[in-house]
Amino acid sequence: MQSEVDVEMDVQEDGPSLARIPFERFLELVVEMVKSNVKTLAGKVRDNAAEIDRVAAQLTPASGPSAANCAAVYRDDHDLVAWNTNLLTKARDYYGCNAGPGAGVWDYVTDNTLGKHAEMKILDDQAFNEMTGGNFSGVYIGISKPCCLPCAAVMAIAGISTRGRHADKNTNWAFPRYILDSEDRWKRFLGAKATEALAERGLSSTQRSMFRGRLVQQL
Ligand SMILES: [Zn+2]
Repeated sequence: MQSEVDVEMDVQEDGPSLARIPFERFLELVVEMVKSNVKTLAGKVRDNAAEIDRVAAQLTPASGPSAANCAAVYRDDHDLVAWNTNLLTKARDYYGCNAGPGAGVWDYVTDNTLGKHAEMKILDDQAFNEMTGGNFSGVYIGISKPCCLPCAAVMAIAGISTRGRHADKNTNWAFPRYILDSEDRWKRFLGAKATEALAERGLSSTQRSMFRGRLVQQL
């Protein structure tokens, strides 16, 4: 008869357990696993440049108050607009977003989360979820410049198309609620390897927030 101890030892022979290495080293390794998964996901984002991208670009002239800013637009019966900047009111007034170029009436997302990119703000927005009925298949979000890597990964998980992605390093990124509020989507963002490593290690809540903080710095 095989004892439980034998079974456990068999598992340990597979290699050095990620559950036992120093926490700092563990963080580094798992962050690398997530980065690799994010890159793979981002490569799957559907890429069909569309007219609505031009509308988004019109909302962020390079000479605007924040050249690094980005606009995202979802067009349905009216336009829903978001910017990266947390100075939403100023941006809206500056760009004169009462009536938009094109369809209907502008609406804008009132999400001031620091580091949350424009397309992530649209994704999290209640009006967007009402406009789409929560079904994102066939949804296209216009953006003034291509998505960054983690945003492209989120779009791939959501099944939303955009004009594609760029490879620039982020200086600032915040997770959308869309990912944080769903265990399933969080795991898809992390990828199977990182999810397994985290489950094996069993992080405390403090360690979990350290891990998340490290991720947003390095994605
Ligand atoms: Zn982004």
